[in-house]
This record gives sequence, structure tokens and C-alpha cells, in this order.
Amino acid sequence: KLASREFHPQSSVVDVDGVKIGDGNLVVMAGPCAVESLEQLLESAKIVKAGGAQFLRGGAYKPRTSPYAFQGLKDEGLKYLAEARNQTGLKVVTEVTEVEAVETVSKYADMLQVGARNMQNFRLLKEVGQSDKPVLLKRGLAATLEEWLNAAEYIMSEGNTNVVLCERGIRTYETYTRNTLDMSAVAAVKHLSHLPIIVDPSHGTGKWRMVRPMAFAAVAAGADGLMMEVHPNPAKALSDGQQSLTPENYNEVMSGIFKIRKFM
Ligand code: PEP
Ligand code: MN
Repeated sequence: KLASREFHPQSSVVDVDGVKIGDGNLVVMAGPCAVESLEQLLESAKIVKAGGAQFLRGGAYKPRTSPYAFQGLKDEGLKYLAEARNQTGLKVVTEVTEVEAVETVSKYADMLQVGARNMQNFRLLKEVGQSDKPVLLKRGLAATLEEWLNAAEYIMSEGNTNVVLCERGIRTYETYTRNTLDMSAVAAVKHLSHLPIIVDPSHGTGKWRMVRPMAFAAVAAGADGLMMEVHPNPAKALSDGQQSLTPENYNEVMSGIFKIRKFM
């Protein structure tokens, strides 16, 4: 299989317009859960850039559990993301939730995110597999490693081998945390696959207080990077405020992870 270590013994490096993922450097993708306004996004971008992230994240197409929750700004949000990239030089990673939107999202984003809820949306996987943009593939809500790597295979078999995996927690019997962050997936994926893997401790725990310790654990486990939600004012966030870091908390996490990286 194309994603397997057996097929490709050497670890892959995914180059996202000059930012390399998997080459030994720690790559951080940070920003709000959702793009809410141009002001909110530009403020977030400045914060994450100053703290050392290479990527700005932010959803314009949001896969919300409830149809009554904020659904995202869609194409308007994509324009704000492009504007934030122009102003900061950050790379932009944003989710694409439907086949019909792949072309438009590709025009604005540097990297396409396939979210947990779409990990087995095979039509979408094939569509991003035909795109020339690198893909961030999040682990499904209850996906085994084999199912996850097969999802990567769907993308790669269409010709796009620039796939980065993202562990974001899975559904277990535990309800204290939003998901159970499977840190062992990092070590397992490193053995089974040559693809880079990053960890999302924000969706992985659902609690901002747990983001820092889990970010540290991810770095120690050998993750190639992190995805974290950061909001200028989490209390006012339209989505996932409870798991979003304030600028102060974000800076604290960032200073810690690079110290840990040095010991690895
Ligand atoms: C996200 O990163 O915006 C997101 C919706 O995460 P997940 O797909 O992991 O739930
Ligand atoms: Mn979110």
C-alpha cells in the first residue's frame, strides 16, 4: 500500500508551499475553530504568528453536530483566510466538507483539511486526491488505525501523495473529555506508515486546560506537529470556546513545546 512503511521505508516530508512537515521540525497550526469575522481572524493570525506557528487554521466550512449551530462563513471566510495569509505570511489550512467545494477551497488554502466526520467520505477523499494541494486527514470519530490509513490510501491512489495525518481523539466510554486522545496512535502510525502525523489536543480533549499537557505529550511521543485552537476571546467564540486557548495560554504552550523538542 502507498501509505505503508513497507512500501516506502523512508519517512515522507510534505512540503506545503515551503513549510516542510515531517523533516524533524515541529510544525504548529493554530487559530480559531471557525472564521467568525475579518477582525477576529486577523487578530488571531497576529497572535499565532507572534507565538511561532507556521500555519493559520480556521474553519469556513464547518461540520457542526447541530444544524442550528453556526455553520461557518463559507466562501466569505475563505477570502478572510487569504487576506490573513497576505498580511502575515502564514500558510492557511482549512476544512473542505463537500466535493463541490474542493475547487474553491483550493483557490484560497495552502492545505486542505478533511475533518473527522468525513474521514470515510470516499467521494471527498478521491476528489482531494485529484487536487494539487496537500491534505490534512483527521482521524475519524471512531476509526481504527487501519481504516484511517485506508482513507489516506484513497487520497494517495488518486495521485496526491502529500498527506499528513492528524490524531484528534476517538469516541470511547469516557465522557469527561470530549474525545479520548489516542497518543499511542503516534507511535503506531510511525511504525505502520511513512506519512507525517500531527496531534490536535484541542478537539482531542475538549478542554483548554488539558491542551498544554497533551501538546507536551504529543511532542514527546514523536509527533511532527500540533494543531491547536486559539481565540482572541474564547468566552465569545462562536464554536469550541471551551477548548480554545487565550493568547496568554497559547504563548505558554508554545514556549514549552520547543523546550521539550530539544530533548527529543
Ligand atoms: C476542526 O479541526 O475544525 C474540526 C472540526 O475538527 P474534527 O474534524 O477533528 O472534529
Ligand atoms: Mn473546533
